Amino acid sequence: SLTLGIVGLPNVGKSTLFNALTRNDVLAANYPFATIEPNVGVVPLPDARLGKLAEIFTSDKILPATVSFVDIAGIVKGASEGAGLGNKFLANIRESDAICQVVRVFDDPDVVHVDGRIDAASDIETIATELVLADLQTLERAIPRLEKEARTHKDRRPALEAAQQAQAVLNEGRTLFQAGLDPAPLRELTLLTTKPFLYVFNADEAVLSDDARRKELADLVAPAQAVFLDAKVEAELLELDDESAAELLASIGQDEPGLAQLARAGFSTLGLQTYLTAGPKEARAWTIPQGATAPQAAGVIHTDFERGFIKAEIVSFDELVAAGSMNAAKSAGKVRMEGKDYVMQDGDVVEFRFNV
Ligand code: GDP
Repeated sequence: SLTLGIVGLPNVGKSTLFNALTRNDVLAANYPFATIEPNVGVVPLPDARLGKLAEIFTSDKILPATVSFVDIAGIVKGASEGAGLGNKFLANIRESDAICQVVRVFDDPDVVHVDGRIDAASDIETIATELVLADLQTLERAIPRLEKEARTHKDRRPALEAAQQAQAVLNEGRTLFQAGLDPAPLRELTLLTTKPFLYVFNADEAVLSDDARRKELADLVAPAQAVFLDAKVEAELLELDDESAAELLASIGQDEPGLAQLARAGFSTLGLQTYLTAGPKEARAWTIPQGATAPQAAGVIHTDFERGFIKAEIVSFDELVAAGSMNAAKSAGKVRMEGKDYVMQDGDVVEFRFNV
């Protein structure tokens, strides 16, 4: 499955956040056979629709979609200069599908900042610079080879042009994601900064309650998404019962845990969406790439379903709830038959018809 790699300068709260990400029982309860690696945090994607579906279909259990975060430990500054840990750091990022940077914006005299002061913009630039430099090195090696290939093979010209364009962007100190460069013709080069970025601002109450400050930080990282949370509070929330957790959240002016926001932002940063199925056994959210067709969606349940796809019976969640039951939705003409070209929409509740 797709993963977000968690990076950040030392002492920004990565371990605190990662511990919170790995300490949720929801998953252990729902996926008893899943083997979860120690450096991977698998978080459920909160979806209130599943509870409602479980009511309508009297489902035994609820299976949410999940988002995976990988803890990428290692040095940051000087990573692009190569040696040892730096190489491993970059290799781990290369294996991730998106980059999730934790940025410290909490004030705490007891926690030392590596650069001696809290400066979100500078922290963000430090990491981006290492990744930009690493990509420039990759391109310096690749471009002479691509030039040679393009001289004899016309069909290699687009790859060369994309590489040259990428080099120009990186030379300005910008990431390829920031510049909105099409990653497709660059894919063969496995660059780092074409990956989507997501920023987690590890904030204290002062920042969480300051809308203007939050907007300023969000603007700083756009088009990347920004999530604001207090990693220490997130860790505490997991120790509390529902009522105390709600009280703690209310006391810092939040109506849901930051981890829920992080799961949603991570999921969409990875370019994923869900569709829903429901029956007496389970109400479940399935993960598909944004823009997936009905047969591709069926293939996520079972590869045979994609091959044998005939059609999909689909009702939108809102219309199903309004009708009250599947039969009522059918009588009201709200259940559609969709064919193999149908592009799945968020909130589709689906039953597939297929040959096996
Ligand atoms: P890492 O080096 O990025 O993994 O950072 P850690 O998670 O180890 O955190 C470094 C220190 O900052 C620890 O003492 C944490 O308890 C503290 N810390 C982490 N998050 C917060 C936070 O949101 N607020 C405050 N005040 N301290 C935090």
